[in-house]
Amino acid sequence: MLHLEKSTTAFNKAKTLMPGGVNSPVRSYARVHCTPPFIAYAKGSHIYDIDGNAYIDYVGSWGPMIAGHAHPRVVKALHDAVERGTSYGAPTTIESDLAEMVRYLYPSIEKIRMVNSGTEATMSALRVARGFTGRNKIIKFIGCYHGHGDSLLVKAGSGLATFGCPDSPGITPGTAADTIALPYNDIPTFQKTMRTLGNSVAAVIVEPIAGNMGLILPQEGFLQTLREVTKTYGTVLIFDEVMCGFRCNLRGAQDMYHILPDMTCLGKIIGGGLPVAAYGGRADIMHCVSPEGPVYQAGTLSGNPLAMTAGLETLKIITEDPCYIPKTTALTTLLVDGLKTAAAAAGISLCAHQAGTMFSIFFSKNAVIDYEGAAAADQTMFCKYFLAMLAQGIYLPPSQFETCFVSGTHTDIDIHTTIEASRTAFQKAA
Ligand code: PLP
Repeated sequence: MLHLEKSTTAFNKAKTLMPGGVNSPVRSYARVHCTPPFIAYAKGSHIYDIDGNAYIDYVGSWGPMIAGHAHPRVVKALHDAVERGTSYGAPTTIESDLAEMVRYLYPSIEKIRMVNSGTEATMSALRVARGFTGRNKIIKFIGCYHGHGDSLLVKAGSGLATFGCPDSPGITPGTAADTIALPYNDIPTFQKTMRTLGNSVAAVIVEPIAGNMGLILPQEGFLQTLREVTKTYGTVLIFDEVMCGFRCNLRGAQDMYHILPDMTCLGKIIGGGLPVAAYGGRADIMHCVSPEGPVYQAGTLSGNPLAMTAGLETLKIITEDPCYIPKTTALTTLLVDGLKTAAAAAGISLCAHQAGTMFSIFFSKNAVIDYEGAAAADQTMFCKYFLAMLAQGIYLPPSQFETCFVSGTHTDIDIHTTIEASRTAFQKAA
């Protein structure tokens, strides 16, 4: 039995101060009907709440913590950096160090711009694509989430799917009209739409591995078709690798599927737990960005030295050891296989998906390849499973429309503990 008395008091106070008591909606646990543990600290694969409960963490701050919490190297680098000041609003060499590292891993990014959040990255990439092509319309895919920029809050996943509100009020009809939302993995619908509208579509933006409707992998030929058709119509193809970048594979989905987009958005891991994201791509497209070109985009704290330091140190940790991502991927596979076996033993139909160090499960008899499939999975069972796991000290995202993350600090013991807890949780959920 989980004791959350202090968290409950803290949550009651927070609710008087912030909408839902939180600064980002899914943290409120509103759909799993439970008080969210208020966090005191985190270390390695574990997170600890103010009530003294310890959890094995598969949220990892929603993706960034691939090297685990409070990694000693990141902590030391930040200590050293903070002594030199927190922000200058002027160029530093560490920005180029991080840019160089990213360009080495993502050769499709010839030029890059650092920003503060994934939302800024996708919003800016779209503006640049529109400026470059002189066109207005964009295509996105239903259930993909690209942050909360107006033109992207149309049929979106993540928190919008969790709260049953995929089209946010507050978006003007004019803005929404320029966004065409198509089913993920549906090649014929995409081809047909482009045949009619291709010449007015500035950009196609996609999560090449979708992590915001649970984890859904691209079906054979889907990404290839996006690449070929966008090339035909002079439409900019944007891979939003904010979540899957460095995680499904060090070099991202574009390396995994051998498809080079025109532009890429990165986030989460690139900041190692501090607010960093980036957009970049072909030099001729990025040449449109101010001050080289007329498309304006700026930021008081963009390229902030602390954030750059945390990002660079994290990327060093995961690249210096060539086995870092493969080992973490193998651990993720061990977990996913264990979950499948435990579900089968409990007589539960489970779809378990994995891409490198990311995974998610759907309580579904049918294959899940798009938002419709994800939404049809048994949410009640998910909720029971989630609560039973939390009570046993396993910290999962509180929504079926999210993805779980494994870090390089998770151990075999963590994985076996999680599988054992799942056996109990599946029995409770069944
Ligand atoms: N793009 C993807 C694929 C994401 O998963 C997210 C956030 O989860 C974003 C963009 C938005 O990033 P941020 O929350 O940093 O604005």
